[in-house]
Amino acid sequence: MQNKTNNSRPHLLFIFLSLAFLSEHVRAEISLIPETEQSLVSWLHAFAQIMGALFVLAVISAIYFFFQNRKLKRRLQKSREHEDRLRTLYTAIEQSPASVVIADADANISYVNPRFTEVTGYTLNEVLGHNPRLLHSGLTGSELYDAMWEKLSRGENWSGEFVNRRKNGEIYWEQAHISPILNTEGKVTQYVAVKLDITDRKRREQHERVHNRVLELLSRGASLDVILLAIVESVETEYPEMMCSILLLDKEGKHLHSGASRSLPDFYNEAIDGIEIGIGAGSCGTAAFTGERVIVEDIASHPYWASYLEVTTRAGLGSCWSQPIYGSANKVLGTFAIYHRDRHSPEPEDISLIEASANLAAIAIERYHAAEALRQSEEKHRRLAHYDVLTGLPTRVLFSDRLKQSIRSAKRNKKNLALMFLDLDKFKPVNDSFGHAVGDLLLKEVAVRMQSCVRASDTVSRIGGDEFVILLQDVADANSAFHVAEKIRLALNQPFELAGYQMNISCCVGIALYPEHATDERTLTKNADMAMYRAKENGRNQVQVF
Ligand code: GH3
Ligand code: MG
Repeated sequence: MQNKTNNSRPHLLFIFLSLAFLSEHVRAEISLIPETEQSLVSWLHAFAQIMGALFVLAVISAIYFFFQNRKLKRRLQKSREHEDRLRTLYTAIEQSPASVVIADADANISYVNPRFTEVTGYTLNEVLGHNPRLLHSGLTGSELYDAMWEKLSRGENWSGEFVNRRKNGEIYWEQAHISPILNTEGKVTQYVAVKLDITDRKRREQHERVHNRVLELLSRGASLDVILLAIVESVETEYPEMMCSILLLDKEGKHLHSGASRSLPDFYNEAIDGIEIGIGAGSCGTAAFTGERVIVEDIASHPYWASYLEVTTRAGLGSCWSQPIYGSANKVLGTFAIYHRDRHSPEPEDISLIEASANLAAIAIERYHAAEALRQSEEKHRRLAHYDVLTGLPTRVLFSDRLKQSIRSAKRNKKNLALMFLDLDKFKPVNDSFGHAVGDLLLKEVAVRMQSCVRASDTVSRIGGDEFVILLQDVADANSAFHVAEKIRLALNQPFELAGYQMNISCCVGIALYPEHATDERTLTKNADMAMYRAKENGRNQVQVF
């Protein structure tokens, strides 16, 4: 309105001036005609003069209006261009793959684009005049909002990530860029938010994190319970509305046992633990039995859950989707289940989630079992190398380690050690008379008797067929070592009752003392061995000190 008045002013002025000029010219021309000569010629002359003036005026008007018109056209052109630009921008916003939200100075929504509706499920009418707070999930820290408002109120742009909730209750992640729009006085009049749904990326990152965590736990030798719980925890943290459980199928492939669960009540886990698989054994029992995913959207009305209604009602469970966990040999290892408190049907993303989680659990279970098998086999090999299979006594390898260690410690603490070599006398004939198996029994019994003659801190080791070594820690002198050896010799002299046979045996013992007879392992061993041979040479069944 203001503009229109401004635009018409020059025209009015021009018309006014033109009329003034014309009337003045007419008046001047008429006044030039003397009253006496007011003949027709004079009037014609005046008329011609006036027409000339009119012509000049018309030319000037034409020029004036030509330029005015050109100016107007230019303005109109500019206004059209402006309008086109606005339309283009509007189309861009309406078509944008990013959500756009415009809110007034009080943060009440005045516009949202169609993408916003696609992402959140709310239409423009549903959010008009509302605060964007209606998207809050409670999972974005309040300090993030504080920092955001702090920046926006200073008139600065803000960027950050929100964890929001869609109209259907789903959680989603947004990367948001918010700009305050300021008026000429620098006051905020509107806020424009451009937001990208980054849920897929976040989920991928999250999945990768869980995957890496599971591998890390595996490499650290964590127990399977801990690893499976890490998978359950990660899903429940990402989807707070879900409750997950992993059940493991037993070796017979008949029963499911608790693998991991965090949010399901204990009484429920206990009720399910040991469930026999089969069609109708809940979602998990059926899934493990058929090897197919089982989606039960409404536990209360589904026949698979009919036998468990009491416990599911008490636990407040509405739906249960269960995915079989397949091992690499296409064998079902267990199930991964997602529960909701209300009836719930899965979206395609939920199916991807349950499949990915079951795959991860499969990796964890298989690698754990592989690592466990390797650990057990290593342990077996270590035991074989360190312990004699027949008698269970330490072998030469372990004995040698202990001897080295004992020498170091005796050196530090200025103590004496005694090393004894013991060989059974005439053992071959025992084998020959009673058989190798009875000979074995005798060796086992000999080991038991020897051990009963020494302290727990001493070591008895079998280093060959009927050869043993004994390490006595902290002996006072050769005499006390001799007494222990005698005790052993006499113990072995006692008759053995084995496999219905009675048999007698004797032995020779050679003793070398640290540091009296040698200070290193090799010499000490050699000297004890030599003492033992001397006992053999001297007629057997005796103890010799080096
Ligand atoms: P010596 O008095 O000179 O020691 O005579 P010996 O008969 O005991 O002969 P020696 O110590 O040289 O041989 C030990 C025998 O022990 C040889 C072998 O037949 C037997 N032997 C070795 N290992 C085993 C075993 O694991 N079980 C059984 N039953 N016998 C074994
Ligand atoms: Mg012998």
